[in-house]
Amino acid sequence: MKIYLAKHCGFCFGVKRAIKIAKETAAKYKNIYIKGDLVHNEAVCKKIEKSGIKRMDSLDKLPVGSNVIIKAHGEPLKTYKTLQAMDLNIVDATCPMVKDIHKKARELEQKGYQVVIIGDRNHEETKGILGNVKNGVILENKNDADKLKGNIKNKIGVLCQSTQTLENVTATVHELAKHAEELFFINTICNPTRLRQNEIEELSSKCAAVLIVGSKKSANTKRLYEAAKKINKNAFWITSEKINKNDFSKFKSIGIIGGASTPVEVLQTITRRLNDL
Ligand code: SF4
Repeated sequence: MKIYLAKHCGFCFGVKRAIKIAKETAAKYKNIYIKGDLVHNEAVCKKIEKSGIKRMDSLDKLPVGSNVIIKAHGEPLKTYKTLQAMDLNIVDATCPMVKDIHKKARELEQKGYQVVIIGDRNHEETKGILGNVKNGVILENKNDADKLKGNIKNKIGVLCQSTQTLENVTATVHELAKHAEELFFINTICNPTRLRQNEIEELSSKCAAVLIVGSKKSANTKRLYEAAKKINKNAFWITSEKINKNDFSKFKSIGIIGGASTPVEVLQTITRRLNDL
């Protein structure tokens, strides 16, 4: 059996940075809280909690003098305002690429564009982008764009969640263009996502099977799996290194890739186990 481990795997830049910030904060302060997951990987989040960072879902109950980490996917502006009003120390671990999307969304709105975000409606990153503008709209795909006709300004500014596929984004923009006189599109798919999306196509075409490794909460892992499945019926989404290697013994070649928040060690362990075959 031949094993092909993707060139672009392990933590992306934004995830690495968020973990580093969380570790440094844990070493420096006490009373540290985070709203939601620092990154979308259960094992990583468990380690973060063990370092003393407490997870909370509501901002109301934070004690005076707390330190609050903002997760890699970012937050709406109102979260910052609430934390500032409570006089808490904000430690911002938002990925700079997500921060840049926030800035671009606000600039579009200031220039009079109706901001349209192409992304998963319930994903933290998309909600964070929406919360950076006053009147944004989220569209998941071109069918949503079609439903909008008549309810949208003639001047629209479009950007997207960083982990979208170019295919979905361009199809949605194409549909939107039918409903607006002026459309300004900024491609905000991040570079680590693009590189992995290109690589998954290559691996899915050349290998008998492909393993996509990452949390079920991870948007970029989900898209890698969807892209692989289109090309290769033997695409499997697995969430950890705990695989039954015999399930894969029938394949002559296997490609392995991870989402942006999957540790490279997990992929290396899977590679070792399959190599034993
Ligand atoms: S996937 Fe892209 S936007 Fe998300 S954390 Fe990584 S680099 Fe940042």
